[in-house]
Amino acid sequence: MKQEELTKKLAEWGEPPYRARQILTWIYQRGASTYQEMTDLPESLREQLSTEWAPLSSEVIEKSRSSDETSKLLLRLHDGELIETVIIREGDRRTACISTQVGCPVACIFCASGLDGVSRNLKPHEIVEQVLAVNRSLPKENKLTNVVVMGSGEPLLNADNLIEAIRNMNEPSLMGFGARRVTVSTVGLPDRIRRLADVGLQLNLAVSLHAPNDTLRKKIIPTARPIADILAATDVYQTKTGREVTFEYVLLKGVNDAPEHASELARTLGRRQCLINLIPQNPVPGVDLCAPDRAACELFQSILQNAGHRTTLRKTKGQSIDAACGQLRRRKQGSQSA
Ligand code: SAH
Repeated sequence: MKQEELTKKLAEWGEPPYRARQILTWIYQRGASTYQEMTDLPESLREQLSTEWAPLSSEVIEKSRSSDETSKLLLRLHDGELIETVIIREGDRRTACISTQVGCPVACIFCASGLDGVSRNLKPHEIVEQVLAVNRSLPKENKLTNVVVMGSGEPLLNADNLIEAIRNMNEPSLMGFGARRVTVSTVGLPDRIRRLADVGLQLNLAVSLHAPNDTLRKKIIPTARPIADILAATDVYQTKTGREVTFEYVLLKGVNDAPEHASELARTLGRRQCLINLIPQNPVPGVDLCAPDRAACELFQSILQNAGHRTTLRKTKGQSIDAACGQLRRRKQGSQSA
């Protein structure tokens, strides 16, 4: 609920306007998940609030932690749907990887999220609550530094709700979490990338490319749009927002990992100022694909680097906790229906 809306409701109960601010500060900044924790509210108000609305609409039902400082939260939404949020700790950074849909309609061949299609879009508050859940699980002095919208779902198919969620996180009186610390990853929907360039937020954009040409890309992403259209849209995004675009490339052994693919990718991207993020595939049960060995990944990277492209080779993290998009939810659902 927005501050104005809450203020209005509370006024109907005869409460002063500052109460709404107090409640939202508890939720957004002080990690409260119950009214009982809001000790500066009168007891009677806390009780009245409890009978009226739940403070949060989702609940963390499982927390798993992998040895490499990656942990995953499984959240149950009000209608029983399950979503995943990952916490990645690296150096001074603590990054939340959040979901935007329950499942995903895109169906990339290597990804667990799309295996069962999509159930629904997440509401703005369900997106924000993932960030709040991560912050609650981190120590006071080490709260979140970054958010990546790289969990389950295609963010640009739920763009309005995502943007509202980011504006809420942005709001200085609530969290004050800057858009420059948020990265949105998309499978590449040209029209929507252009629209995102016009919302006035300085979001970082990452595009999942995964192939140097349209023929191969269509085999990996059945609904893929033409690469030329995507690049035209990312060029506009970069010009309008001043933010550099990242291209993600999941390395799949025997599919898109040959040295020729690397050379072709370098040509496809041409002289663009961008970062290429190579991601060796995280294994997914039931998916017959795997990552190339380390030497093949490094060779792929060196070809791009020699062609002048800034390239990172991502370390895979969290394999012991099913941390690839959609994996934990699938396992949990499997065990519930078994
Ligand atoms: N739909 C959006 C965001 C979610 S996926 C998109 O396609 O970008 C976020 C990133 O995780 C994408 O680059 C995707 O390719 C990658 N990813 C998904 N499953 C993976 C897996 N099993 N191993 C490695 N990367 C994976």
